[in-house]
Amino acid sequence: MDTLELTQQLIREPSVTPNDGACQSIIASRLEKSGFTITQYPFGNVKNLWARHGTTAPLFLFCGHTDVVPPGPIDAWKYPPFEPTVIDGQLYGRGAADMKSGVAAMICAAEKFVAKYPHHSGSIAFLITSDEEGDAIDGTQKVLANLPSSDQAIDYCIVGEATSDKKFGDTIKNGRRGSLSGKLTIHGKQGHIAYPHLADNPIHRAFMALHTICEINWDNGDEHFPPTSLQFSNIHSGTGAGNVIPGKLEAHFNLRYSPKQTAEKIRDRIENTLKDYQLNFEIQWTHGAEPFITHPGKLTVALSDAIKKTTGISAELSTTGGTSDGRFIAKTGAQVIEFGVINQSIHQVNENTSVKDLTQLTSIYFETLENLLTQSLSE
Ligand SMILES: [Zn+2]
Repeated sequence: MDTLELTQQLIREPSVTPNDGACQSIIASRLEKSGFTITQYPFGNVKNLWARHGTTAPLFLFCGHTDVVPPGPIDAWKYPPFEPTVIDGQLYGRGAADMKSGVAAMICAAEKFVAKYPHHSGSIAFLITSDEEGDAIDGTQKVLANLPSSDQAIDYCIVGEATSDKKFGDTIKNGRRGSLSGKLTIHGKQGHIAYPHLADNPIHRAFMALHTICEINWDNGDEHFPPTSLQFSNIHSGTGAGNVIPGKLEAHFNLRYSPKQTAEKIRDRIENTLKDYQLNFEIQWTHGAEPFITHPGKLTVALSDAIKKTTGISAELSTTGGTSDGRFIAKTGAQVIEFGVINQSIHQVNENTSVKDLTQLTSIYFETLENLLTQSLSE
């Protein structure tokens, strides 16, 4: 069965987070046939799977997720989201790009690799979760904390997320920015709009302070990261009545930050700015993700060479985009990069991927394994 067939089989499972459907049992039975040892790590209603082939170092890990985001309005889809459909060389369905295609490609590549090199050097492992698109609490992070120490010594990791931008093969993610969110409440005193001296208007108080926060030049980024950016996403104040000064203003914001910042530094700077304006405020902080970076080295070269050989394209290293489970693997000290199909349609209706790219992705993963795990074999 090739990558396309396996991807279609996985798309037929409506595995909206944290449901897995039968995805992981399909994966487990295939890897088991190829000689992998399977361990399940269920937590709550989340399913997780660990599979390993080989016992020695270096340990190469494929990381992925079987869950998908909800399809949204079914009527808006050209083809039903959980009935994979191939039209003009494109495969349509929820998870076609994010990331059942990536999961299928890594499985087919590994099957082919262990069949060709049953005595490859090092080990190949899989960490597959059904909790990536959700809270990501009972998924990758928790599996890593529960693995025996021999499985924790990960040297190389490829996450199969859709990273290609305009052309398949053009982008490898070698890091991700951190994410920090704040829910700010500025308190005033409610009153009649004709008697402002008896009230304290939080809208007026907020203007200058929020403007100053927007104008902060956090950093200029560096060779790997774009500049840190703060964006307000929601702002609300007012009772609805035109003659009432409201009692409070609420503003929500998020920062995507480079390793030049820390969450603590950002929190201090924002809170000190608000204090400078003598505001009565509180902030609820949520630290979504810490940033990570894998510097160019053995893993990036092994993957870039495979991409070049298969597609003729020289991939660029990038750290843009949202967060991913790569951040948890990076904490173990492993080199972590992400590479997969084109991400234009992820999380959208009519999510799709090119069938040709699927085949090429499988070859690229296979050749990356060859580049890393066959060097010490005698030809
Ligand atoms: Zn994904």
